[in-house]
Amino acid sequence: FFEKFKKGLQKTRETFFGKIKEVLSGKKLDEEVKEEIEELLILSDVGVEATEYIIKKIEESSGEDAYETLKKVLVEMLSDNTELNLFEKPTVINMVGVNGSGKTTTAGKLASYFSKNGKSVVLAACDTFRAAAIDQLKVWGERTNSTVIAHQEGADSAAVAFDAVNHAISKNKDIVILDTAGRLHTKKNLMEELRKINRVIKKKLESAPHEILLVIDAVTGQNGLQQAKIFKEFVNITGIVLTKLDGTAKGGIAIAIVKELGIPIKFVGLGEGVDDLKPFDAEDFVNALLE
Ligand code: GDP
Repeated sequence: FFEKFKKGLQKTRETFFGKIKEVLSGKKLDEEVKEEIEELLILSDVGVEATEYIIKKIEESSGEDAYETLKKVLVEMLSDNTELNLFEKPTVINMVGVNGSGKTTTAGKLASYFSKNGKSVVLAACDTFRAAAIDQLKVWGERTNSTVIAHQEGADSAAVAFDAVNHAISKNKDIVILDTAGRLHTKKNLMEELRKINRVIKKKLESAPHEILLVIDAVTGQNGLQQAKIFKEFVNITGIVLTKLDGTAKGGIAIAIVKELGIPIKFVGLGEGVDDLKPFDAEDFVNALLE
């Protein structure tokens, strides 16, 4: 997957992170160098908190190669719990996030990823507010050979989720992916809806949902991070899918997200194609950022 990471992170690498090696190579970590690194990290949306942490770690490791330390610190920051929890059959994955973040596309790409790994998938059209979202999901169902459970526009999203889990249990399917609504301007209603979905599917399968993945558009940067904080208040997010990394020079937002939310990134979107969603790998990610 490394080449995909490299290509997807090209803008971020060429604009900011790639310069770090030059700044650090063969130099002592004096105030001027520190300021340059700090500036590159902040400009790439790493955020103040994570930037200060990284600089502190480099300072503490004086004597060691600063560039290698930086790599090590970034990998450490991003490595924990990046794997999906796929132990039960069916595994229920709830996709949440604001409209436009890439939720439906990611649900489709995930279905494709699982199908290619020999798993059977049920897609649930829980965004019943937009007819287009239901249609879009049906297209993904055909494309990935997955069953789509959908009701009419305006139907109760929790009922769709319940039917999908029910269907998966009775047909012995591996994975259920719930594509939920994302109208954040009606925050209270949206969060109630998400909670209701979780409550209702528990009636069928007590440990569900096994994963609640928050989809964040990397292009929206710090704004996306603020939205994430709102979701985190209301639902128990287990992982992040960071989409559209190919469309931004500010891919450092990945580091800010993990540091500030304390939630792991589990997948990244590196393009619009079906195969452009990749399981997150901290080491590949950091190597692709830096060189
Ligand atoms: P939703 O409203 O959250 O369901 O968003 P959609 O799934 O409809 O996606 C919105 C747009 O983002 C679509 O045009 C997608 O093709 C695009 N998109 C999603 N993920 C990626 C990605 O990783 N890279 C790029 N370049 N575009 C993406």
